[in-house]
Amino acid sequence: MSARGNLFIVSAPSGAGKSSLISALLSDKPKDMQVSVSHTTRQPRPGEVDGQHYHFVSVEEFKSLIEEGAFYEWAEVFGNYYGTSRTVIEQTLAQGIDVFLDIDWQGAQQVKALMPEAVGVFILPPSRAELESRLTGRGQDSEEVIAGRMAQAVSEMSHYAEYDFIIVNDNFETALNDLRTIIRSQRLTAAGQIRTHSGMLNDLLAE
Ligand code: 5GP
Repeated sequence: MSARGNLFIVSAPSGAGKSSLISALLSDKPKDMQVSVSHTTRQPRPGEVDGQHYHFVSVEEFKSLIEEGAFYEWAEVFGNYYGTSRTVIEQTLAQGIDVFLDIDWQGAQQVKALMPEAVGVFILPPSRAELESRLTGRGQDSEEVIAGRMAQAVSEMSHYAEYDFIIVNDNFETALNDLRTIIRSQRLTAAGQIRTHSGMLNDLLAE
């Protein structure tokens, strides 16, 4: 078997620090890992760049991509559609590059069903009070809006036990180290090493 990358699923409620952890992980542009850029029908937020943060598409475009079988997984998350491109992840993994999917629990369940060896990582905030304060933001939102965000976070968090690893993001550097440790351990499993070093292993055992 030729070298093949590992697939990592990273899920978290909003406010757990998932995006910052993934950006820090990829900040020095490692050649052996990539984050998959999803398609979404939600509107871009200020500062978000099409093709970099997401591929922003209309509902019609999204639905025709579903029809074409273009998505490895897709889900409706809080009123918008999100999906992971099938060809991009298949091609990237085939090049021996690890792929990170920043997706919700619905997507995670689909990916695990299709590829049980994918590694699921769930990121939790350290406490309810801390989560509430992170979701309150700059104090510009109404109590109702904040309560809605909290309810969404609780709904996402209720799925933590479906993942292989859980990181509690209290201290950012510790959480980042935890994430790096998970990736390294996964690469060092016998299955991971056999995928990466198939040529060398054949050579070592040659008569
Ligand atoms: P946001 O709109 O805040 O960027 O993302 C909202 C939620 O959608 C997050 O939990 C994020 O992980 C999830 N999400 C982003 N892309 C995908 C995707 O391609 N598939 C699925 N299932 N969820 C996604």
